[in-house]
Amino acid sequence: MIGPTGTVVVPSDGSPSMSLSAPGLATGAVSGRSQAGSDLIVGVLALQGDFREHAEVLRSLGATVVLVRRPEELATVSGLVIPGGESSVMDKLSRIFGLFEPLRAAVRAGLPVYGTCAGLIMLADTVIDGMVGQQSLGGLDISVRRNAFGSQNASFETDLLVPQLGSAAVHAAFIRAPVVETVGPRASALATLPDGRCVAVEQGNLLGTSFHPEITGEHRFHEYFLTKVTTAAFRQ
Ligand code: GLN
Repeated sequence: MIGPTGTVVVPSDGSPSMSLSAPGLATGAVSGRSQAGSDLIVGVLALQGDFREHAEVLRSLGATVVLVRRPEELATVSGLVIPGGESSVMDKLSRIFGLFEPLRAAVRAGLPVYGTCAGLIMLADTVIDGMVGQQSLGGLDISVRRNAFGSQNASFETDLLVPQLGSAAVHAAFIRAPVVETVGPRASALATLPDGRCVAVEQGNLLGTSFHPEITGEHRFHEYFLTKVTTAAFRQ
């Protein structure tokens, strides 16, 4: 089900890209009642990027949220969100914090994971235009191109149709966003831009978007993800 080890293809631009807040490393958990009255804990990878925004959305949906910076925290969660930020930095920090291999193992074992933007890059089996030495966790049978829309100035917002989430359009913010260049047979596209480029995918328990629902008040992706978390936990 889960793809081969994540690989990164040909670093190209080498440009630094940091578009979201990079808060410090204060530890903490955001608590709330989880969906369906269960005690499921949802983690948000909190090494770097906009993890606070994800934690807020998940909490508003009733989830119990733990910020994940250590393998012991990862071990407590029934699902994980990997936020937007900078994938090459997240990759490096995950090694420094001893999280890279546990994260990879968790994805392979079927942990539900939702990645936004840099998080999507972390979940891609193949990363195009990665930084030198950058690796991904892999799991999603896709290739993504980093910074596919150009510089920070090329960031934009648009409305997307995501049939899986109903007929109302999703308002999507793209910030130094990646695009999904190829969708392999194990993954499926959930949303495309008008020009046909894929910007949202799922594969079993994995979900990924090039854009940031957590900053536009769009909660349906998180709700959809929480159903994956609940279903996966129920099956165990
Ligand atoms: N360009 C960033 C990267 O390569 C992603 C940007 C984002 O998460 N908004 O990781």
